[in-house]
Amino acid sequence: MSMIEFHNVEKYYGKFHALKDINFTVDQGEVVTIIGPSGSGKSTLLRCINGLETISSGQLLVNNFDLADKKTDMNRMRKNVGMVFQHFNLYANKTVMQNITLGPTAVLKQSKSQSENEAKDLLKLVGLESKANSYPDQLSGGQQQRIAIARSLAMKPKALLFDEPTSALDPEMIGDVLNVMKTVAEQGMTMVVVTHEMGFAQEVGDRIVFMDDGRILEDRKDVKQFFEK
Ligand code: ADP
Ligand code: ADP
Repeated sequence: MSMIEFHNVEKYYGKFHALKDINFTVDQGEVVTIIGPSGSGKSTLLRCINGLETISSGQLLVNNFDLADKKTDMNRMRKNVGMVFQHFNLYANKTVMQNITLGPTAVLKQSKSQSENEAKDLLKLVGLESKANSYPDQLSGGQQQRIAIARSLAMKPKALLFDEPTSALDPEMIGDVLNVMKTVAEQGMTMVVVTHEMGFAQEVGDRIVFMDDGRILEDRKDVKQFFEK
């Protein structure tokens, strides 16, 4: 089953042509890494998938929601797709536990106890069980990013998008974040990951997409061969 489908998608920012004839499908459970130079449209592609940007023409389906259809309930659609950014944007005045449970209680209308139980499991998943009562500024950048991933997962998304999740981190913290992403991938999450981490692309990715100047230049399932050439 396909989770994300781009058909002949174009995206303009005013006169600037940011996405050019994008045709691209992501199946359920697939992990796609996107690479390409700065300014090639990677972030725009992700932002279109979760509705932060509108497409200019073509068709974009996400979990069968038609994003170009004005009747589509975008708030409902957005619950299907989580996004992890370069800067983790945790609430500074809330604890780790509160950061993770806020969405599930406020948006998904879950009970506090259910949300907290699920948050504990997610903290275990990201290896930060002991930090439930810490505040973000008491954590390293890598730890904050792992909390941001847990917070996204708490919303039970059908797909998770990552926009350069390790680019703002000190080198010694990158491995821990990539390991968490690998674990999430192994649990069957559909993931689209913009990254410069070629090791992750090679080891965890099912597919690698290379973008340049708003276009998809290559879309390869033979990830191993891609790196050998
Ligand atoms: P990447 O993620 O590959 O670095 P982006 O998708 O962020 O690329 O940007 C692609 C191009 O679109 C860049 O030239 C950027 O300046 C431009 N761009 C991105 N967002 C906007 C915007 N909101 N308004 C105008 N131009 C934008
Ligand atoms: P990053 O590379 O970390 O994604 P950018 O600095 O490219 O961040 O973009 C930050 C914000 O500015 C984004 O919301 C993007 O859409 C917007 N942006 C990027 N390029 C332009 C541009 N040329 N004109 C207007 N907005 C832009």
